[in-house]
Amino acid sequence: MDRYARQRGLVAQDLVADAVVEVHGTGPALPYLLQCLALVGAGTRHGGIRLHVPDRVVEEADLAHQFLLDRADAGRPLAEALIDRVELLNPTVDLRTADHGSARTRGRGLGVAVPGAAERPALVAALGADPAIVAWGEVLPTAVYVGPAPLRAGTGGHPTLLTAALAATCGGLLAQVLLGQLGAIIDGPTVLSRWFEERLWIAYPDIGRHAMAAEAEGALAPALRGVLERFDSPRVAERFQILLDGRTADPRVTTVVDHDAVVVTVPAPQASMTGAAVRPGLADPPPVRPLLWSPVDGPTLDGGTVTGMAAAPVPPRTPPRVVLCGAGALGSWAAAVLAASGLPGLDLSIVDMDDTVESHNLNRQVLFDDADVGLPKAAQAMARLGKINPRLALRALPVMVSPETIEDLVGGGTQYELLADDPRWRAYREQVDQLAGALKDATAILSCPDNHQTRWSLNVIAERLGIPLVNGAVDGFVGRVHVCDPGDRGRCLVCWLGESIADEPERRSCTDVVGTAPVPSIVTSAAVIGAAQAATLLAQLGGPASRVRRFHAFDGLAGTLDGYRAADRDPDECPAHLVGAGPDGREAR
Ligand SMILES: [Zn+2]
Repeated sequence: MDRYARQRGLVAQDLVADAVVEVHGTGPALPYLLQCLALVGAGTRHGGIRLHVPDRVVEEADLAHQFLLDRADAGRPLAEALIDRVELLNPTVDLRTADHGSARTRGRGLGVAVPGAAERPALVAALGADPAIVAWGEVLPTAVYVGPAPLRAGTGGHPTLLTAALAATCGGLLAQVLLGQLGAIIDGPTVLSRWFEERLWIAYPDIGRHAMAAEAEGALAPALRGVLERFDSPRVAERFQILLDGRTADPRVTTVVDHDAVVVTVPAPQASMTGAAVRPGLADPPPVRPLLWSPVDGPTLDGGTVTGMAAAPVPPRTPPRVVLCGAGALGSWAAAVLAASGLPGLDLSIVDMDDTVESHNLNRQVLFDDADVGLPKAAQAMARLGKINPRLALRALPVMVSPETIEDLVGGGTQYELLADDPRWRAYREQVDQLAGALKDATAILSCPDNHQTRWSLNVIAERLGIPLVNGAVDGFVGRVHVCDPGDRGRCLVCWLGESIADEPERRSCTDVVGTAPVPSIVTSAAVIGAAQAATLLAQLGGPASRVRRFHAFDGLAGTLDGYRAADRDPDECPAHLVGAGPDGREAR
């Protein structure tokens, strides 16, 4: 269960593990839906996932625009190949074909339909009015639809440059709908986290006081001592305290999750400890509302029919060179989706300082599986991306992007110049030089880090270079995408989030709506926002910037993903984007 440590507190893991999900169709969203369900832990205990797919072999079209199946699967029976690949991703998922479902589970599941273009008429005829199908997911040329019923008419199934990114967005949205329908979403995680933040602290002399992440399970857990034993020395354990309302307390601490968060179980009711019960409730299943999302202006949902479908972006004449910063949950989805999109000539630099893959990364960082635990993250990510798309030009750069390194990366270079002759720093200096080179030639920057200072630094770099920055952030079930293009006079990231992000060193996402409590991560949000980042970047690279929607807001609890064009930047307003302005106030290019 260590795998799911970071999503407990948001979802009732037992309900997810006992879920029975019936998946119909072989549309482009199918592999992404299966990846999200496997990573979230669906069907890992008494439940299971049942595949309703035709009895045929894996064809060339099944291998395009996705990264679950591998080229080696061509010609294998489709269901068998899907089952084997999902098992590699999460060996505990019970995934099988529908006709092999046990009598215990057959016919009781939540249904979801992901029709491909050719099979769509037959699937709609058979299942269009079936109440067991709670959601339909359809991938259109430049938009994605998720809703309780199929669209009135198919809108052409030909793949485009956006197909992989839209299919991944669709898979994430459908998995989120299923979590809601299972009643597995825990109501008010933010409220609970805030309660902890106000009243419960860990205190340690050298690190100060830290708020705790909340875990919303009722079971009694091993006592505080179990955690203290994990600290590396008895001296540390002696000085470590839990404070509740300012007094030393003994809540049930179950595990140290990360260096900045501790999971605490508070059995409810908690009268003996606090005088107040903390009883997180499960959310009632919300109605599944129709949703249409596009990275560009145009597509609109009008009573079950899509109008205004925009022309798909085309591969740019100059092969794009993208620098992606942060290979965590968001970055691994964005990178994998970009690799699967088949953008010709794509050159991708992955910047990440994290060292190794950890078990608790696996529930949302889709580039890695069990075999990668303990291995270097950047190298494993490179290997996986190269398998997804062997034509990619790839490099991993373990460089810290921070306010201190901006001058080294896009200025004259100061800080590490002095260290160039020191052999201990030579290797790092070479990495900094490589990143500086990659940035000099970059077409765009994808921003997926886990802290504000790096976002701020990437914004300054993008403004200096006059290139687009596509920023993504997730916090629990909430996510944001910002498209900041100086050439299109779009607002920069500081216009969106405020100058104060330069001064916030903590690891924190920047969704601007959730407070400061550490909120667990979940794969559905990472899939939706990482894929939406890839989609908006592809739209930006392959079409007129004037059509790209610059702000996208995901709310997994409300079941919404909305894109907005938003206003232009105020040329005089913001100190961050003025660094890129020429002497007469025009943007540098
Ligand atoms: Zn600005």
